Amino acid sequence: MEHIVIIGNGIAGVTAARHIRKGSRHRISIISSESEHFFSRTALMYVYMGHMPFEDTKPYGDHFWKKNRIELVHAHVAGVDPLERKVRFQGGGALAFDRLILACGSQPNTLGCPGEELQGVQGLYFKQDLELLERNAKDRTTCKRAVIVGGGLIGIELAEMLRSRDIPVTFLVRETSFWNSVLPEGESAMVGEHIREHHIDLRLNATLKEIRSDGQGRARSVVLAETGEEIACDLVGLAVGVSPNIEFLRDSGIALDRGVLVDQFLETNCPGVYAIGDCAQLKEPPPGRRPIEAVWYTGRIMGETLARTLCGQPSAYSPGPWFNSAKFLDIEYQTYGRVLPQQRKGNSEVHFHWRHPRKKLCVTLAFDGQSQRFLGINALGLRLRHGTVEGWLRGNLSIDQVMETLADANFDPEFHKKYEGAILDKYNMDFNKALGRKKKDHRPMFQWGCMVYPTDKTNDSGR
Ligand SMILES: Cc1cc2nc3c(=O)[nH]c(=O)nc-3n(C[C@H](O)[C@H](O)[C@H](O)COP(=O)(O)OP(=O)(O)OC[C@H]3O[C@@H](n4cnc5c(N)ncnc54)[C@H](O)[C@@H]3O)c2cc1C
Repeated sequence: MEHIVIIGNGIAGVTAARHIRKGSRHRISIISSESEHFFSRTALMYVYMGHMPFEDTKPYGDHFWKKNRIELVHAHVAGVDPLERKVRFQGGGALAFDRLILACGSQPNTLGCPGEELQGVQGLYFKQDLELLERNAKDRTTCKRAVIVGGGLIGIELAEMLRSRDIPVTFLVRETSFWNSVLPEGESAMVGEHIREHHIDLRLNATLKEIRSDGQGRARSVVLAETGEEIACDLVGLAVGVSPNIEFLRDSGIALDRGVLVDQFLETNCPGVYAIGDCAQLKEPPPGRRPIEAVWYTGRIMGETLARTLCGQPSAYSPGPWFNSAKFLDIEYQTYGRVLPQQRKGNSEVHFHWRHPRKKLCVTLAFDGQSQRFLGINALGLRLRHGTVEGWLRGNLSIDQVMETLADANFDPEFHKKYEGAILDKYNMDFNKALGRKKKDHRPMFQWGCMVYPTDKTNDSGR
């Protein structure tokens, strides 16, 4: 029996711990300075919005840990010594390990602009940020206007949170269109419209130059770089991305770059020391994947993969096709495979875009212009069935095959209006085709642990 110590009780660390417990009798300790118990970071916004108390963000009851013999240590790790096989705590004390898992997550980026240290300037990542937000932006009286800097997923969540308390929000986005470094044109434009319709003052091409003080250490206003305009505000929300939280590992001898460098078994240069989740940087990412993927699903898959290795079944990290989901205010967003934004897509990746004439619904499907292979899909306001889309990607279907069977992926609740017919009509028109809709196919197959779509059938149109 080994002692496995995990730094970080987020989705990555906790998934690893749960699966190690299922597959072994190892002693497991999880250390975190943020909170005693695991909570869902993605649900923090709902606490501020009054949809749930913080207690309900905990996926497991407080009794779970003792019952499953997972020791929780609520402390901050100041350093790691891989040779002595010890972690050192801030304020003294140490814990010995046989194997160490670094699952220490991210921290919010700062901009380095004047005034960032003022009170009323904050990010949104940790539970403590939520508590600070309660103080900084309790209501419209405490906070007459908030300025959010950075147009990504956390920025828009912050805007939604503040609007739920009727706090006026100005949203500064450096790009020419909302999140167009990730979203294709049509989607970026639709989300931008939606933000404005929610009475959020979205400013595009707007860069923060400085934050001005009220003379008593609190933020009073922000100044824009392009125009010099000064906007009065009581809260400045910084949402300019996240970076791996690895400062405490600087002198440890563990190889670092932007994150903790790991091989395909998620092991660092120090034997028996691993990294997973937001803090891990793959030396050789799988094709089509980035070295650091700071998203929930990556942490979960890495946690499961590493647990298998530590339970005696060496497993390389193999996440399969990219998937992520989020929300732009009340528009649900799912992305599968590769759908690059305009500025990065080049000529070989062709996009088909459909948008509902009145409602905030749209899809973009990407395919290879030469081989016609389906590359990925983004859906906004429409829900797709994960297994079906993953099957299309793993089965290397052509764009035509996907278009004909689009209805198979519909995962909208029962009685929701369906749009596959309208989507296919537009596809036929855009690409001068005459495809018809194929009957629903309920025969996805599992092969080598992954789902494979039956591609060998001749379809209705005889292709
Ligand atoms: C507001 C918000 C919304 C999000 N929404 C989505 C979403 O919709 N979809 C999605 O895919 N992703 C989303 N994300 C990202 C997702 O939450 C993260 O990718 C995920 O939580 C990272 O998990 P992790 O286990 O790697 O690290 P974390 O959850 O960051 O956990 C690491 C823990 O380790 C602790 N720790 C670090 N260093 C030390 C140390 N030295 N000593 C002790 N403890 C330490 C940290 O305090 C932290 O508690 C969102 C993130 C935020 C902030």
